[in-house]
Amino acid sequence: MTTDETARGSESKNNLNAQWAAVCGLLRAEIGEAAYQSWLKPITVRDIQSGEVKISVPTRFMRDWIVAHYLDRLTDLWGKQNPAVTAIDIAIQSEREALAPLPGKKHAGDVAGARPGSQSTRYSSDLSAPLDRRCTFEQFVVGKPNEFAYAASRRVAEAAKPPFNPLFLYGGVGLGKTHLMHAIAWHIRERTPKRTVIYLSAEKFMYRFIRALREQNTVDFKDQFRSVDVLMIDDVQFISGKDSTQEEFFHTFNSLVDQGRQIVISADKSPSDLEGMEERLISRLNCGLVADIHATTYELRLGILQSKAEQLAVKVPQKVLEFLAHKITANVRELEGGLNRVVAHAQLVGRDITLETTQEVLHDLLRANDRRVTIEEIQKRVAAHFNIRVSDMHSARRARSVARPRQVAMYLAKQLTARSLPEIGRKFGGRDHTTVMHAVKKVEELREHDSSFAEDVELLRRMLEG
Ligand code: ADP
Ligand code: MG
Repeated sequence: MTTDETARGSESKNNLNAQWAAVCGLLRAEIGEAAYQSWLKPITVRDIQSGEVKISVPTRFMRDWIVAHYLDRLTDLWGKQNPAVTAIDIAIQSEREALAPLPGKKHAGDVAGARPGSQSTRYSSDLSAPLDRRCTFEQFVVGKPNEFAYAASRRVAEAAKPPFNPLFLYGGVGLGKTHLMHAIAWHIRERTPKRTVIYLSAEKFMYRFIRALREQNTVDFKDQFRSVDVLMIDDVQFISGKDSTQEEFFHTFNSLVDQGRQIVISADKSPSDLEGMEERLISRLNCGLVADIHATTYELRLGILQSKAEQLAVKVPQKVLEFLAHKITANVRELEGGLNRVVAHAQLVGRDITLETTQEVLHDLLRANDRRVTIEEIQKRVAAHFNIRVSDMHSARRARSVARPRQVAMYLAKQLTARSLPEIGRKFGGRDHTTVMHAVKKVEELREHDSSFAEDVELLRRMLEG
């Protein structure tokens, strides 16, 4: 090896370590300190070969746990640091030393889904990004906020010819857009394996396009897409303002649509709200079906938690699930992350999952969700809604016209913040915690028997959460 090569080798190793530090930092923030210490810290980063990062861990148990809980997220985050990375291979240290291949381990290019013991898998097409095995229609919990997007995605997956072109899915982060796209891909893969499906992030699309430009083989780049039956591009907002990529995308898009191929696009905004997009592209995107995914509701969150707990095959008390569904309202990814942390903690310390341990393990996450709404805001909103003065929230007046709204505000304070009953009591003119408890019970009762009251409370909750 020449000095030059050695230098290059250590430089890429430095890069790899820097990428790992970044990935690790992000995931650490997501999963918390305890899980970080247990699962991420012991990881050793080895090498990168043709887009596959090689890492190793001390035990088989650790490998299986990381594969089941963190591998997809790791791959995702790493791909964002370095778009060339498409897969992560985890070895067990002692086995790595003996150079023994991992049981069940196959190589990139093998048929998707054929890797036992792994939840992640790869596609035969080198263009397509890896698909998450868990992101199928069966695993997607349907509720009011996502039923339209779900139905549209199913139609696309089941139809022989594009029922609408493109299908444009949009919604906030962590609400299931990528999940639905993967589900479409899995469905088509399984039912009609002859059809080629390509799923790729807009970022990756751009990266490949730029590489083709640099290597002067844009003709090859175009050819790759020519035989595609279904093209899915995720997070298309990413190419806002990137003119040459948009230009290329526009042409690829048009030629595929003209040939009757299906296109599925996702973004965080509706086509018309995407800034920095060319007019002609926007009008093209608007041509098919635009389906939005709304923010989650309590019912959907609870449904998702129940389904995830079943998949993890652990017994989580209903009270804990309800607590999480109330408290973690930002998006499904956070909700899932919260549940995983609670489960991992319980298994690690060998204790049952309780409301107390849940609050303990998730205190940082809960605080972050909490900051969104304060008791003062709740009091203001509720007072305005019922047309009373904010000062009546603290006053000793007992007339029903002010007592009821006050109870509603206490109830919402209990549901939407992590404040304890005594703390809430103090904020309502120094009332006793039993008064708050009584208010919560009363409102729950009324909600059950009076549907217009229930609607009022639901409306207030949504306004406060949004
Ligand atoms: P987005 O692409 O919109 O940012 P994702 O599709 O990546 O969101 O979803 C984030 C996480 O939440 C994923 O793990 C996904 O499987 C899960 N998820 C989202 N919506 C649902 C749902 N309705 N049912 C089950 N899991 C869901
Ligand atoms: Mg996504």
